[in-house]
Amino acid sequence: MTISDSTTPLTQDAAKQEQKRAKWRREHERYRDKRLAYNRAYRLANKEKLRAQDRAYKAAHHEEGLARGRVYNANHREARRAYNREYQRTHTEDRRARDLENHDHIRTLAKAWREAHKAEQKQAKQAWVKANRDHHRAQVSRYAQAHPEQVRATKRASRAKHRDKIRAYNEAYKGRKNALARQRDRSGHSAQRRARLAQAPLNDFTEKQWREMKQHYDHRCVYCDRQMQHLTQDHLTPLMSQGSHTLHNIVPACRSCNSRKGDGPVLVPVQPMLFTLI
Ligand SMILES: [Zn+2]
Repeated sequence: MTISDSTTPLTQDAAKQEQKRAKWRREHERYRDKRLAYNRAYRLANKEKLRAQDRAYKAAHHEEGLARGRVYNANHREARRAYNREYQRTHTEDRRARDLENHDHIRTLAKAWREAHKAEQKQAKQAWVKANRDHHRAQVSRYAQAHPEQVRATKRASRAKHRDKIRAYNEAYKGRKNALARQRDRSGHSAQRRARLAQAPLNDFTEKQWREMKQHYDHRCVYCDRQMQHLTQDHLTPLMSQGSHTLHNIVPACRSCNSRKGDGPVLVPVQPMLFTLI
């Protein structure tokens, strides 16, 4: 036997195999439509069964599926994003309808999510507000204009809720402010003031007169009528203009009215002058 003789049956075999395959392919092609129709019909008729099978398979191969999904997503990130965007764009109505249908469920989920991410949500919001201050301000004022009743109610509720805190804060603020004012009286401009007093034609105003004067005015500023714990001595004719530091030239004024007098229009006392009464 020659080598070619020994290979002959094999070659013939291969040729036969190939013929078989070609025939099968032809058949396959010929019955393609029929087969597809059959498959479609089968799927339609066994919808539930197939779905159950699918579910069972997925449940049994859950981890595997997830891993495969991750790999797929990593390999097709851009395509997937584009697809999603396109889908969202073309299915707005669908989504809206579905959201409406699952409204309560979605709300529950969203609420649970917010509860679970409270701290980081707060932080994120604060960061956003800080980065978008003007935008946020505009938003808030638009909302306040559109919902005045709601805003009032919210403020009321907040005040009621934080009453003690607010009171403590206000007390502390008042304390700080008074301390600052006292300090300013002791140190601020005192040298200048002493110099001016020394040049005043008359300098006989006493501590006692000042106490009585404040009492007479019910501890109110003569210009704005606000009752103040801290009042300043306002010289009707300023010391700078050679006014005297004496009872008839002094009225109690709050700090802001007193300093406003310096550069603003002339302030008119709202209370009768002490010296016109005595
Ligand atoms: Zn005042």
